[in-house]
Amino acid sequence: MSEPVDGPDAPWHGTAGGYTNHKCRCGPCTTAHSADCARYAQNRAALPTTEIPHGTENGYGNYRCRCELCREAHRVDGRRRRELRKQRVAAQQTKGKKRVRSE
Ligand SMILES: [Zn+2]
Ligand SMILES: [Zn+2]
Repeated sequence: MSEPVDGPDAPWHGTAGGYTNHKCRCGPCTTAHSADCARYAQNRAALPTTEIPHGTENGYGNYRCRCELCREAHRVDGRRRRELRKQRVAAQQTKGKKRVRSE
């Protein structure tokens, strides 16, 4: 019995469908399948399955979300951090002045 669809000339060879749908394990099909898997894994890594915490610095920094909410949070956070740094520097300067008091 010949194999009209599953023969070596079948059009699906070298596609991921050949590997998954036709259970073919020839070179081109396996390669296409692993390439497909790699692409899938890459997409999954780029788009985390967990919910992106929009409107937080976490969403902007860790999830690389650039929606309006996240950008706003990043902006506010940056301003707050600058403010904190300024306060810390000021506190250190005050402390330093106290330390070098003359006796
Ligand atoms: Zn094949
Ligand atoms: Zn967002």
